[in-house]
Amino acid sequence: MSHHPSQSRPYLSIIIPAYNDADALEGFLPEVFAFTQTLRAPVTDSSSTQQNSETTIATCEIIIVDDGSRDHSVDVVTDLMTTRPSNTELEIIRLSRNFGKEPALSAGLAAARGDMVAMIDADGQHPLPILAQMLAMIEQSDIDMVAGIQANRPHESRLAKTLKSSFYHFIQDSQRYEIRPNAGDFRVMNRKVLNALRSLPERQRFMKGLYAWVGFNTVYLPFTAANRDTGESKFNYGSLFELALVGITSFSQRPLRLISRMGFVVSALA
Ligand code: UDP
Ligand code: MG
Repeated sequence: MSHHPSQSRPYLSIIIPAYNDADALEGFLPEVFAFTQTLRAPVTDSSSTQQNSETTIATCEIIIVDDGSRDHSVDVVTDLMTTRPSNTELEIIRLSRNFGKEPALSAGLAAARGDMVAMIDADGQHPLPILAQMLAMIEQSDIDMVAGIQANRPHESRLAKTLKSSFYHFIQDSQRYEIRPNAGDFRVMNRKVLNALRSLPERQRFMKGLYAWVGFNTVYLPFTAANRDTGESKFNYGSLFELALVGITSFSQRPLRLISRMGFVVSALA
């Protein structure tokens, strides 16, 4: 039995959110092409004994979500369009303004058609060999999602580390699911997780919480982030604080409980 890559549904969708990262994309996208070129469809089962060593090239779609960039990101992607490998489609979704990484990822998830869906940053900080490892882990077991967990963060200040770890401590509020510290958006999921994430109606989306909230069998793979290829991080203390507020208000009951307790105290005093 031969495994023809499905015409309609690619094996893998790779979502890359990008905001003013033209220079990074110019270097990184060819690396992604080199990666997708090596993709092989998984050997499905024992029914193909005659040609078990032969695996077919798997199809892939790369979805660049341009999050309202004001640089030449779109031109860079358009120029690279013709250099993509034959098994790889390249699509660009242009958001009308800068919405932020979470909405950009959501737009990518809404468009993804693959059996597997990967998310990776545009700046080369997420190593492609780790992505390959994540895919292999999902293929070889009943794991639904593999999430990268940033093992050490050499580029981050002490203050940033402290603030982030207290944030994760604060939102750990539920016995039912765990928002794992330092597990970010670098991950691979199967369609079960994709469909669950797509079905969520929230507009203010704290993705790191939603991944955990939908459940499923998730494993964590430690990795060390590479240096940013070029440009600089789009997240400053201000935007991280805003994101943290979305996380806290959507995933923690603590502020509400605190306020009602204060209410009781005030009325008792009165
Ligand atoms: N990004 C985005 N919209 C934004 C900010 C960032 O799509 O408003 C993208 C950015 O282009 C990159 C990824 O999100 O691909 C991570 O951003 P960045 O490298 O600035 O964050 P850090 O690595 O410092 O967390
Ligand atoms: Mg980065």
